[in-house]
Amino acid sequence: MIPRTLPTWQTGRWQDDLADLVRDPLELLRLLHIDAAQIGRSEALQQAFPLRVPRAFVAKMQRGNIDDPLLRQVLPLGEELLVQPGYSADPLQEAGSNPHPGLIHKYRGRVLLIAARQCAIHCRYCFRRHFPYAQNNPGRDQWQPALDYIAADPSIGEVIYSGGDPLALADKQLAWLTAQIAQIPHVRRLRIHTRLPVVLPHRIDDSCLQWLAQTHLQKVVVLHSNHANEIDADVAAAVTRLRSIDIPVLNQAVLLRGINDSVAALAALSEALFAAGVLPYYLHLLDKVAGAAHFEVALPRARSLYRQLLEQLPGYLVPRLVREQPQAASKTPIL
Ligand SMILES: *Cc1c(COP(=O)(O)O)cnc(C)c1O
Ligand code: SF4
Repeated sequence: MIPRTLPTWQTGRWQDDLADLVRDPLELLRLLHIDAAQIGRSEALQQAFPLRVPRAFVAKMQRGNIDDPLLRQVLPLGEELLVQPGYSADPLQEAGSNPHPGLIHKYRGRVLLIAARQCAIHCRYCFRRHFPYAQNNPGRDQWQPALDYIAADPSIGEVIYSGGDPLALADKQLAWLTAQIAQIPHVRRLRIHTRLPVVLPHRIDDSCLQWLAQTHLQKVVVLHSNHANEIDADVAAAVTRLRSIDIPVLNQAVLLRGINDSVAALAALSEALFAAGVLPYYLHLLDKVAGAAHFEVALPRARSLYRQLLEQLPGYLVPRLVREQPQAASKTPIL
């Protein structure tokens, strides 16, 4: 018997958790027993890219620690308002590769579908924090141009659900969209880029597994986790459910100052991921999005950390260190 006093994120539906996010920085600090005077004013930040964080994620933060690596990923700070040269609203210049609302086609053979404009969590370093989601959140009939575009280009073998977080959409919508894509003969693979199994693990419920298992498309899920403390038994259980229907699960992380910029933190992340059934895929250098400069790890340091990581771990636990360059035909490896 599950005691009735458990918070909803341990017992309820993920939709309820999504409706019950922590959105007030003062509440977040109260939950963590941190004195609000430590962070100064953050009202201005609330407007453009407000705090959003699931309670299940808050539960993994250390009480009383303003420098907690999970807290730092979500807490709006005054540093975001500093204007820094080289940091812009659309650092990847995706606007130029956006042939239809909701579709980004930059690399050969695969397209990104911005399936949802919402995320369950707002990560302060997010390169899409200024993305015009309102213009990129098509409903069913508005998907048609994107679907037609994919159908008309036989080189597209893989569709990537991205966002926002695609799993913030209802399963009914995802099942519908997936069925449309599965009808396109040259599409073989469906990839899902999502942080929800990490921040709201019981998103991977029966109804989610059902549409995933139903489609003949080959599937791969790429999680986004930056720190070993994010990976707990609930996350491992979500991964196990995905793997139970033969979906490989990978992870991409962002190298973030003050969060995971040490060999120990990066090695611990890889170990925790693998223990949970996830293989590291990419370690991204920060995209230079306005408001995120304080997370940057300078290139020489990133390289040095990476070399040390190679000496610490078996090769299959070392993610590829990459950066995204606006005009490049793929992620650019950093060696
Ligand atoms: C990262 C990215 C992809 C996927 O790249 P992979 O190297 O296949 O993981 C696809 N399209 C866009 C626009 C991307 O930014
Ligand atoms: S979950 Fe991904 S898309 Fe959403 S805010 Fe975080 S980094 Fe950005």
